[in-house]
Amino acid sequence: MCAGTWGYGDDNGPSVWARDYPKAAGQKQSPVNIETGSAKAVKHKYALKADYSPEPNMSCVNNGLTFVATINGDNFISGGPLDTTSYKLASFHFHWGSNDFQGSEHTINSQAYPAELHLVHWNYNKYATFPDAAAANDGLSVLGVMLKVGEPNAALQQVCDAMKKVTSAGSNFVMTSDFDLPGLVPGDVNKFYTYPGSLTTPPCHESVTWIVCQETIGCSKEQLSILRSLKNNDNNHLVDNFRPVMPLGDRTICCSD
Ligand SMILES: [Zn+2]
Repeated sequence: MCAGTWGYGDDNGPSVWARDYPKAAGQKQSPVNIETGSAKAVKHKYALKADYSPEPNMSCVNNGLTFVATINGDNFISGGPLDTTSYKLASFHFHWGSNDFQGSEHTINSQAYPAELHLVHWNYNKYATFPDAAAANDGLSVLGVMLKVGEPNAALQQVCDAMKKVTSAGSNFVMTSDFDLPGLVPGDVNKFYTYPGSLTTPPCHESVTWIVCQETIGCSKEQLSILRSLKNNDNNHLVDNFRPVMPLGDRTICCSD
């Protein structure tokens, strides 16, 4: 395997990432299983706040590994474990399974969800560029949101409509109507689990303050089938693009009080 050709297959999947990306073998890797009974309740000074607004002309791509939307507007997360530091949203993407019983990266009490949304933020006041932040201890914060089969989320439908335009790997689409970014997060974002971890894809830098929402957003079976209809670089169905859970080690998972 050459650097840059990582994926989720037998020959280039998570079990061999550390060969080309040594940080993948670190002690603070993500995702992890979240045992809710063992999470330490912490009273943070400030409530976690996602300060999001509708995104015009959102740019979407199927990169062969996931669906990524790039965010150009000013959207921030702060509070909770981030305290007064404001992190800026750069992009979001998804991980999903080939069936409803797998797909999320984090698991809750060893249970997976069919998909997980990652909203990727960076410490833009401290670092000059996103890559600089991605390689630094306190550079990133990712908000993880589980998708659960149920009443479908309307913003997610906008994403699914865009997905239909980028079925083949490498294709792009720019939304013509404003994307309802605030609609993508659960009603009470201040209910969360948090722990120090890593990017879940190579180079697996240990730079992420993870914030996993306790509340889920709803998705329909049809929406999940749209995720599963995307194609990967081999023109096969892009599914099971999740990294299995990594050891928690000596880390503590905290939850909002
Ligand atoms: Zn992710």
